[in-house]
Amino acid sequence: MAEKVDYTPMWQELGLNLEAHEGLLEVLGTFYNDIYLSQADRPKGMEYFDFVISEIHGLRIKELQDARKAGRKIFGTFCLYVPEELILAVDGICIGLCAGADVGMEEAEKLLPRNTCALIKSFFGFTMSGLCPYVASADLVIGETTCDGKTKAYELFGELKDTFVIEVPHMKTSMGRALWRSELERLAGKLEEIAGVRMSTVKLAAAVRTVNAKRAALHRLNALRAATPTPISGRDALLINQISFYDDPVRFTESVNALCDELDERVAAGAGVGPVDAPRVLVSGCPMAIPNWKVPFVIEKNGAVIVGEESCVGERGTRNLVAESGRDVDEIIDSIAARYFDIDCACFTPNDERLEHIVEMARAYGADGVIHYALQFCGPYTIEAKRVEAALKDAGVPLLKLETDYSMEDMAQLETRVQAFLEVLVGVGAPK
Ligand code: SF4
Ligand code: SF4
Repeated sequence: MAEKVDYTPMWQELGLNLEAHEGLLEVLGTFYNDIYLSQADRPKGMEYFDFVISEIHGLRIKELQDARKAGRKIFGTFCLYVPEELILAVDGICIGLCAGADVGMEEAEKLLPRNTCALIKSFFGFTMSGLCPYVASADLVIGETTCDGKTKAYELFGELKDTFVIEVPHMKTSMGRALWRSELERLAGKLEEIAGVRMSTVKLAAAVRTVNAKRAALHRLNALRAATPTPISGRDALLINQISFYDDPVRFTESVNALCDELDERVAAGAGVGPVDAPRVLVSGCPMAIPNWKVPFVIEKNGAVIVGEESCVGERGTRNLVAESGRDVDEIIDSIAARYFDIDCACFTPNDERLEHIVEMARAYGADGVIHYALQFCGPYTIEAKRVEAALKDAGVPLLKLETDYSMEDMAQLETRVQAFLEVLVGVGAPK
């Protein structure tokens, strides 16, 4: 057995609050045991992802520190609209900083109004309480003007950490497209300045191939979930999507493909998780940042299987690839801009593509129903839920709308509502 490494000196050097951090890791370990390791019939390929989680504040942070010593820069992001390709093209490392735990909320509320969504409060809470080694490792944080909450929060976050904000337009017009393209140019310039590396055609094309390969592997994983029984639990699939924001992209892609080879065999053998007649659920809505596993746990603990995530930590983030035809840096950035502008986040208006996509996904994955997940105080997703409801009604797909936060206080209530919904799905049968 490998000897346990003591990362305390590294955490100390990063300025973490050691006592609180130890408490956090302990709670997370218990949580992970209960929600993940207790699952039956997990694929063997999940061992890699379990290992990544066990080392999420250890080995991965050590890798980041080693990379920094070797001259590479770390860029922290909070949103799908920040292209990882541009970061890789300056030899940078891209790390997702969204936080999914009810941690440091009191600290966060010293700066933010109480009625701010949990995701924003959580990344402030982690940072202000000295609990996030990723924020501490970042040379620059890149924010974006998506929802109002994040747009304004970055002004305050910039006082805690160097933050560079790019403008994401809110309408998919030709003017919006032109603005978006010019913002990526501005971001590319900033990345080059911080990294001290000039973006070349060769580097940028290689970065596009790396990120495309990662998305293709996640697609392959998602497609396999259409099988009955589904070969992997929704919790595990979500975890893999969450890890995609932290892990080394090449190693991650290899591990997802290895897992998919195993899942191919499961599907061929008719093996999977849960019984063949388990209700199949598509989850749609706000991103679930690590370790936000509350709703998926409630759904699967009550006998359903989650067969897809229409979410940024899910198919919204991996759906389209960047065209690999660009012949120089400008053309490749054009292709990157085009691919990212198609993301159907609720911060855009109108956002009909998302409505179509939810129905399309429900059909493709054989979902019996959709659970719409929104964080409390998230304007874009709670308001758009009304249109989602209408679109699913037209398509004849049952829907349950949940609004929650990161606390555990509403677990019993969530459970009751999910159980009632699953009973409806079992009774109605699947409109596939
Ligand atoms: S929901 Fe919208 S704002 Fe939030 S991470 Fe996704 S794309 Fe970005
Ligand atoms: S969950 Fe909603 S309010 Fe919170 S950061 Fe995302 S889009 Fe903004």
